[in-house]
Amino acid sequence: MTDIIHLLPDSIANQIAAGEVIQRPASVVKELVENSLDAGARQIRIVLKDAGRTLIQVIDDGKGMSPADAQMAFERHATSKIKSVDDLFALHTRGFRGEALASIAAIAQVELKTRRPEDEMGTWLKIAATKVESQEPIACGVGTTISVKNIFFNVPARRKFLKSNETERRNIFTEIERIALVNPDIEFIVIENDLQTLHLPPANLRQRIVQMQGKNINQQLIEINEDTTLAKIHGYISTPQYARKGRANQFFFVNNRYIRHPFFHKAVMTAYEPLISASESPNYFIYFEVEPDTIDVNIHPTKTEVKFENERALWQILMVTVKESLGKHNAIPSIDFDT
Ligand code: ADP
Ligand code: MG
Repeated sequence: MTDIIHLLPDSIANQIAAGEVIQRPASVVKELVENSLDAGARQIRIVLKDAGRTLIQVIDDGKGMSPADAQMAFERHATSKIKSVDDLFALHTRGFRGEALASIAAIAQVELKTRRPEDEMGTWLKIAATKVESQEPIACGVGTTISVKNIFFNVPARRKFLKSNETERRNIFTEIERIALVNPDIEFIVIENDLQTLHLPPANLRQRIVQMQGKNINQQLIEINEDTTLAKIHGYISTPQYARKGRANQFFFVNNRYIRHPFFHKAVMTAYEPLISASESPNYFIYFEVEPDTIDVNIHPTKTEVKFENERALWQILMVTVKESLGKHNAIPSIDFDT
């Protein structure tokens, strides 16, 4: 009998790993935009062709990378964000695994232009299927531009599984919406097939919600604010009068990341229960801030479920906060103001 175990070449290992991080164009948009935010960008432009199928380009005005870092960034497990496992518990960045760029470079044709403020020249790097094809100096603005062309060009089985442009586009906008709602002070611009289709100027949270959901939502927003030892909770909920049938805009965020939380959703619905009919749902935009070590941070990058240490107590706090805010709103006439 001969031995049968062998190591996979890097290119194949990277493609397999990429499958977990990058499922569709929306995953690329999410990873690139989060990197731009981590780099301190104030303005982020997202350029799409064919719903991201042929081009996803993210242009930021963040801190840029040195020529050596630019090349290093595409290695697996290459990150500037953590050095040890302990750092995970004091995490202030969105990324930390150092997998996104390596994964993207394994399944698409990637170009990077980047310049730090202190460098006279920028770096221009071309990569396809994990191989650096060229690196040269280039004159460019401060910040980073990453272009991702022909996603899954070398993984036909995955390319085939992409949905219609309409669906892929919807997924991209879902990601952008979640990110924009936790970064109201950052400017976002989306350009699709050479047309600007979204512009969100820097704003406060209430204004950002209005920018995204339309002017009509302004008059229905009630602010919530609660400060306890377990969590700070703030955000906006809608007046019961505006609850409607069918899908509403309902968002939970914890420490500035979007989460799904059916259990907390029940808490909100319990508070509304006496005020709306069973078939109606309210809009809500609710932000939790908790100590990082009271939630499980080491969850999979694409998962939106988070485990809280004090889930039952938080359920109660949330329910009471929403209930009291609704009660106060009913007691005092609301003041309308333009944003
Ligand atoms: P992670 O974000 O988990 O560290 P990534 O693969 O997404 O891993 O990025 C690798 C590294 O490349 C980052 O840690 C960061 O140092 C650098 N980087 C990526 N994108 C940008 C950007 N837009 N601006 C500046 N640096 C970046
Ligand atoms: Mg990242």
